[in-house]
Amino acid sequence: MSNYSYIEMHRDLDEETLFQLSQIFKALGDPTRIRILNLLCSGEYAVGEIAEKLDLSQSATSHQLRFLKNLRLVKFRREGTTLFYSEDDAHVIGLLKQALNHISHH
Ligand SMILES: [Zn+2]
Repeated sequence: MSNYSYIEMHRDLDEETLFQLSQIFKALGDPTRIRILNLLCSGEYAVGEIAEKLDLSQSATSHQLRFLKNLRLVKFRREGTTLFYSEDDAHVIGLLKQALNHISHH
């Protein structure tokens, strides 16, 4: 945690920042979305693969991926008609790991 700036954390959060933060935690506040993000920690997957691995419908998977994409928690690339999704960057994995660490040490 030494690379976090505590000065940053203590600054007043403006309305827009508060909104964006609350949206991120809202996104993480759903078991299905957590499962998707956890899977994407291990690499890039096509929508169909994600649906299959997590035993979800294709439409539910697409819906959640769009939601996560809008919040820039995941990104995708297109190959023909197939969309491949992956974590947007290491911060997303970090958010999950921090929470996992926190629940596992009590
Ligand atoms: Zn903790």
